[in-house]
Amino acid sequence: MLSLVILALLLVENIGISFSLVNNVKESSLFNIANDYSNNVSFNFKNILIGNLSTLTVFIVSINKNTGEVIINGVDTKRPNIPFTLDWGDGVVHSGWFPQRHIYHDKNRNYIVKVTSHYSDGTMDTAQILVRFVPPPIKFNNTILFSRNVSIPDHNITLISRIPGYGVPKNLTYFDDSFFTLINRTTIEYILTIALLIQKNFANDNVYSVDGNLKVVVLRDPSFPGAYALWYTHPMAIVVGDCLIRNGYVAWSSFFHELGHIITLNSPSNYFYGSKIDGPASALFSETMAQIFQHATAYELVNYGEKYGLSKDIIFEIEDSAIQTMKLVRLSYEKYVSSGKKFSSWNDPTTLEDETFDTFMTIAYEFFLNAEKLGNYTSPLKKMMSLLQTFEEKDKERYGQFNNSPTASAFRSTLMIAALSYGFGKDLRSEFRELNFPIDDNIYDELLHRMEERSSKTIIKLIRETIIQTITKTKTITLTSVTTTSTLIMTTPITKTFTVIATIISTLKIKPDYTISIIIGIMLLVMGLMLGFVLRKFIHKE
Ligand SMILES: [Zn+2]
Repeated sequence: MLSLVILALLLVENIGISFSLVNNVKESSLFNIANDYSNNVSFNFKNILIGNLSTLTVFIVSINKNTGEVIINGVDTKRPNIPFTLDWGDGVVHSGWFPQRHIYHDKNRNYIVKVTSHYSDGTMDTAQILVRFVPPPIKFNNTILFSRNVSIPDHNITLISRIPGYGVPKNLTYFDDSFFTLINRTTIEYILTIALLIQKNFANDNVYSVDGNLKVVVLRDPSFPGAYALWYTHPMAIVVGDCLIRNGYVAWSSFFHELGHIITLNSPSNYFYGSKIDGPASALFSETMAQIFQHATAYELVNYGEKYGLSKDIIFEIEDSAIQTMKLVRLSYEKYVSSGKKFSSWNDPTTLEDETFDTFMTIAYEFFLNAEKLGNYTSPLKKMMSLLQTFEEKDKERYGQFNNSPTASAFRSTLMIAALSYGFGKDLRSEFRELNFPIDDNIYDELLHRMEERSSKTIIKLIRETIIQTITKTKTITLTSVTTTSTLIMTTPITKTFTVIATIISTLKIKPDYTISIIIGIMLLVMGLMLGFVLRKFIHKE
């Protein structure tokens, strides 16, 4: 009896260790590198999140593809009185004031121009810009290329709404070939398909799709001043205004944001958030997650883009686009703090302003800050999603999509904080209380407890399957199988040891005809308990 109590205690105590084990089990082979969490990434958002924000902006005035003449303009709001340094990327470096003119002799490649500001106190600032003469030289991965999970049709597409009451806008059209003179249609489809696959992985592949094949089309709403996601149509669609895709410029980060809506609102697959949280209270889930997904996607693509055959110029453009939107996250967070930390999860339909904006940006900011400390975006995001994916009927009621009450507000806030805490494996309640977020401790505990239950169940199931397989395969008792199993027990940590024993007990229930299993089970149980006692004593001494 006592040993069973200890077994239970150890299982609970060590559950934290088990979490990571479960979450790393399901990885698709395509993302092996992206999931190989090394800290050796070349790009991060640290400077944008906590450093001094750049005061220098540069932009291209004109590129003449025939003569190679390029004119660049810029501004530094610090107004330095020392001339700027311009490194044109072709070996030519010189100093001067804006605007600047340069002639490139080789027009068969692209260049990254680096501009440096010099201040009288000896400090500097830099900005970079791409000069594009030719399309990005991409080495396509054929599997991704042909899957075309995201496509940009060159003709009209009929969208069918899956959700009663959710209509399809009438004014949608398509992007004709005139939009793809510098970066072609296939290249954009390829990159967006990679982004979608990365995001599907963030969502633990737990995403609803009509026929099991996730397809998204990019449609055009010419005068719309941004983009929006039709997550509820078949095929799913993101609708983009001309301002986000023109003259070879693609607002990559905004595209990733809309794909993020598609993925997160269609997750979990059997009870997706979309339609259950929509309305004035949707932002705390939907906009927070779209922000996190868009920047986590950019982080993965910039750091691992070469693995997908992306060229330096396109990686630079993705990086640049994400830096611009990340600045907005930082500024919104700072505004939230400086304007009195006014938490809001309710976007009042009678006002013009979105009262939730700085609040959801603050949650996203905290995610990024913690991800940068960890040097990893994918792993915490997958875990965060796994908690959010426990969403059920009861939660829908408590989220209160049309309910502007303190209780509903506290639930919405607690859901996000619990998911973030679980994602990073640390209790972030005090940080968020400092930021005036309402948090309900009972709900927080309830949500995290769900994950404990799931983790132990998954581990037991996994080990049970492995052992059943081993026993079924060997059928006879051999020295090897006993040795292997006991080695497993002797070398694994306490939690796993006891989980193995628990598993063996449950295995026996399933396969009572295996007398041999019972013998092994009892042997291992005794061995495991002995080991457990020794280790338990050892822990107490410390
Ligand atoms: Zn959005």
